[in-house]
Amino acid sequence: ATPTALLVGTGRGAQLGALIKGPEILESTRRVDTVVLDKTGTVTEGRMSVEGVDVPAAVGTSTEALRFAGAVEALSEHPVAQAVAASAREADGATGLPDVTGFRNHAGGGVEGTVTDDNGAHHVLVGRPAWLAEQGAAVGDEVAHAVTVAQESGATAVVVAWDGSARGVVRLRDTVKATSADAVGQLRQLGLRPVLLTGDNAPSARAAAAAVGIAEDDVIADVRPEDKVAVVERLQGEGAVVAMVGDGVNDAAALAQADLGLAMGTGTDVAIEASDITLVRGDLRVAATAIRLSRRTLRVIK
Ligand code: ADP
Ligand code: MG
Repeated sequence: ATPTALLVGTGRGAQLGALIKGPEILESTRRVDTVVLDKTGTVTEGRMSVEGVDVPAAVGTSTEALRFAGAVEALSEHPVAQAVAASAREADGATGLPDVTGFRNHAGGGVEGTVTDDNGAHHVLVGRPAWLAEQGAAVGDEVAHAVTVAQESGATAVVVAWDGSARGVVRLRDTVKATSADAVGQLRQLGLRPVLLTGDNAPSARAAAAAVGIAEDDVIADVRPEDKVAVVERLQGEGAVVAMVGDGVNDAAALAQADLGLAMGTGTDVAIEASDITLVRGDLRVAATAIRLSRRTLRVIK
């Protein structure tokens, strides 16, 4: 292998929007046969918007649920949190969101904090339905039903609880990037198996997978951040040479474990640092470009 050819390869990669950490990375890039794609922020825009708020238990109003949820979410950077906070600010107009104390972020679950309004202090939880139940919030049948209906429509549903019980369901939607279907098609053409991996719920994950052409059997949903790495290890144990593409703090361990880690340049620094290749503009098609380039470069050398 001539070092010059490898350097030319990485230089060409940079021109095409793939920052390759070192020439030796081209060899692992060439060998991958499975590409694990994070959903939120990688396959989708990662910019959620609030579609509606339900108060199925008929305690509290949807305005109140959104206001409490938004106040706590304003302190988190998660895409769900930003959408909820923006929607609450918009609904609130001039009043401003209430103060929050004791904020805590629970990665892959949700957020908690104490919100104080004219009626006193309320302990608020906002997050994944199963996580709320784990935290000891009472999630009644009406709320659980509203969550199922929302998820079956392809939405991400987060539950808002205060003073011990779940009272609101916030329905959010994210859009699949315009380039994702083409990117998945290109990866397939290169003979790779695309797998969708997400902490989001299964119906919403299946909807995104269908939109980009990933088989239902290759959708792995409801995965906690700490379990994403285990999914990569499992695939490796089955003999796969795995590339992982992600953008979030929650993807970092899996990016490092993968045979090849690719980070969205639009993603977090933690993901970029854990990766071998950065896709500068966050364009998934460039993952296919990098693989094609590595094959061509190493074919020339051998
Ligand atoms: P992804 O793999 O899709 O990027 P995460 O692992 O970050 O997702 O989160 C998984 C799920 O946990 C989200 O789909 C959401 O339901 C819930 N969640 C995480 N953080 C928050 C938050 N700040 N507010 C509400 N829900 C959250
Ligand atoms: Mg993500």
